[in-house]
Amino acid sequence: MKRFDYLAPNNLGEALEMLAQRPEAAPLAGGTNVLVQIKEGHRSETALLSLKRLSDLNHISHGDEPPHGLVIGAAVTMKRIAADPWIRQRYAALATAAGLIGSVQTRNMATVGGNLCNASPSADTAPPLLAFGAQAVLVSLRGERIIPLNDFFTGPGSTLLQADELLKELVVPAPAIGTGSAYVRHIPRAVMDISVVGVAAAVTLKDDKSIRHARIALGAVAPTPIRAWAAEDLLTGQIPADSLFAEAGQAAAREAKPVDDVRASVAYRCHLVNILTQDALRQAIMNVKYQDER
Ligand SMILES: Cc1cc2nc3c(=O)[nH]c(=O)nc-3n(C[C@H](O)[C@H](O)[C@H](O)COP(=O)(O)OP(=O)(O)OC[C@H]3O[C@@H](n4cnc5c(N)ncnc54)[C@H](O)[C@@H]3O)c2cc1C
Repeated sequence: MKRFDYLAPNNLGEALEMLAQRPEAAPLAGGTNVLVQIKEGHRSETALLSLKRLSDLNHISHGDEPPHGLVIGAAVTMKRIAADPWIRQRYAALATAAGLIGSVQTRNMATVGGNLCNASPSADTAPPLLAFGAQAVLVSLRGERIIPLNDFFTGPGSTLLQADELLKELVVPAPAIGTGSAYVRHIPRAVMDISVVGVAAAVTLKDDKSIRHARIALGAVAPTPIRAWAAEDLLTGQIPADSLFAEAGQAAAREAKPVDDVRASVAYRCHLVNILTQDALRQAIMNVKYQDER
């Protein structure tokens, strides 16, 4: 492994100063992507900026009041997200995704910010956060900017982040009463593999049990995680039924733009999008009752 400088700021202000002086430094959160990439020779950083001591990036806060229901610091680990009772109840899709990542050891280190900033199309926390309409708060010495997560990803491995910016936190709106969510993914092995396809659904039902709105997000089927807008539109105002979910699954599969690679063909990925979208919708609706037990 090549030598690099290790920068260890004590707070966010110090971190931003250091990053402004050394914009070539890569932020180091859990290191489960960046250290592996350096070790394997895919990156050659001359400096890493540790986020470990930045309390501003390490918090979870929540409330039902607008404008937000949940704020998660970028350096919060998958273990904390998966175990948080509030997230498990109201943002089940996110807790599920965090709990599926890697192994216990990986989840103890891996952070949500690292998962998003690494910008793999298969990042497991991206589809649930997209389905919940999350916003990303980016910070630099120039100030803060808030970006819909939908606009954050610009391609495989690339985001809107500038060299002197950090992802500070994710702001996730409170789900409306009557909302349930779910995340399902397919991997070839039982655990410890990257998603071939991941699908998140967040569905809000009206009192008459028709669908007020549904949000569906897909991972690993396009250069970035994407929303399945046409499938969402098709569900609005309808009464949940298997035939409706089958139509939504087909619509989502048409919106997917996967590539053939060593892990799956285009046809197989589209088939998975169809099936997993139906599963995610069914599970999300089953979770509505659970979510309303507040
Ligand atoms: C064994 C193993 C299994 C894995 N399994 C999965 C899996 O099932 N699903 C999955 O999605 N991923 C998986 N991963 C990938 C990885 O664990 C996740 O993407 C993880 O969330 C990355 O977080 P991290 O804190 O380790 O990021 P790091 O490696 O520290 O950083 C990743 C990238 O983001 C940048 N970065 C980090 N934080 C910030 C910030 N706040 N602001 C700006 N830039 C930042 C870094 O500079 C780097 O470019 C696995 C990895 C391993 C090693």
